[in-house]
This record gives sequence, C-alpha cells and structure tokens, in this order.
Amino acid sequence: MDRDIRLEAVVTNSRPVGEMHRSVTLFSSTMGLVNAVVFGGRKGKKAALAPLFSYGTFQLYYNPVNDSYSITEEASEFTPTGIMQSLEATYTASYFCEICSRVGADEHCAVYNLLRRSLLILDSDPDSHRKILIDFTWKLIQISGLATDLKTCPSCEKQYAHNETLFFSTQMNTPVCRTCADTDRLFLMPGSRKYLQFTLPLSIEEAFKVELYESNQIRLRDFLLGWISHFAQGPLKTLQSGLL
Ligand SMILES: [Zn+2]
Repeated sequence: MDRDIRLEAVVTNSRPVGEMHRSVTLFSSTMGLVNAVVFGGRKGKKAALAPLFSYGTFQLYYNPVNDSYSITEEASEFTPTGIMQSLEATYTASYFCEICSRVGADEHCAVYNLLRRSLLILDSDPDSHRKILIDFTWKLIQISGLATDLKTCPSCEKQYAHNETLFFSTQMNTPVCRTCADTDRLFLMPGSRKYLQFTLPLSIEEAFKVELYESNQIRLRDFLLGWISHFAQGPLKTLQSGLL
C-alpha cells in the first residue's frame, strides 16, 4: 500500500486532540469518509490547515503501524467566510456534512460534488440557508436513487391528479398516493410537488435560483427532511437543534 495519498475532500468535522493536535473527518471523492490527524493542528502554522467546511486537495500520510492517517499538506480551494457568520447557516452546513456521512457511502463522487457545491452556495448567501437546504436535500435524494418522477404512484401506478396532495410510504421510502400511504405525518402539497418536478433535471446552482415562497419552503423542508431522515435510519443530531 502506498503511504502517501492524495485526496479531494471536504472537512466535515474537526475536534481537538489533547493540547496540541486536531483530528478531522474528511468526505472524499474517492474513499468516502476518512479520519486524519493534523499534528500540531491547534497552534501556530498548522492551525490554518483543514478548517471546518473547507475543501481542497489533501496530502495524507498513512501509518500502517496504528492504521491511521495524518494530513501533511493541503491545497485549499475553498475556506468558508459567510457560513460562520450565521448560526442557522452553520447548522445547515453541519447538517449537509452529517447526512452525507450517513447516506453517501455508495456514491462518493456524486455526493462529494454535491456537498462541495452546496457549501459554496451557502457561503455566498448564508441568509438563504433554508432554500439551499431544500435544493441540497432534493439532489441528495436523487443521488441516493430514491427519487421518482412524482407523476404516478410507484405503488399502485395510478396517475396523480393535477392538484393532488401526495403522502408517504415508509415501507417503500417514497411519496405515494393517499391510499398507498402508511403514515399521515408526511405530505407533499401540489405547489411543492411542482417545484420538485421542475428542479429535478437542474443542477444545484440552477435549482437554487428558482424562486420558492416562504410558506412553501417551510412545508417542503419538513417533507424532504422527513424523507431523508427516514432513509438515514435514525435521528440526525443537527436536526434536533430545532434551528433548521
Ligand atoms: Zn397508490
């Protein structure tokens, strides 16, 4: 095994190790999640290495003796400035990182790209944290292979009426018609459904520019977070804050 590794990655977690060092979690395009130590990462020159929510190309050293990685260098492409100025935006970024760590195992590259681009949008417009949360979650649902065209019920194959409200099947993990639903906790109003259909083929940058009214944003956020949380199998720490 090669001991020097190069990774394109996002820093999804950063925590102190003793007085001197830092441990970070990276979400990489090729290996998914990797934990690595920044020796001397709490003070001096190394303190600037691998800040939370940044991304770039990392040079890692693998130590086979204790099966661990350390970061030796980083060519940073992005360091957040706007995200940290708002508590909601910080929580939104933490949610992005937490959910990607949970569901991104099979699609490293696509999830990495979505995470990186969503952090960039959030950083440039932290006040629109709810809108980017919606667009990000919808794209992640698509990458995870859960999205349907929202035109016909995947259970009974009935075509939805124009103004029909959709419900949810926890068994199939997808929106369905009222008859096929097994919970009434999650529902998708016609306006929100139209938004999801319209943004389905768009890139995250294009989707972010599509307007969505405040009241629709709240309903759609609740639906998409319910959907992805169900897929993630278990509560998400970042959603328990009540800030998102
Ligand atoms: Zn049905």
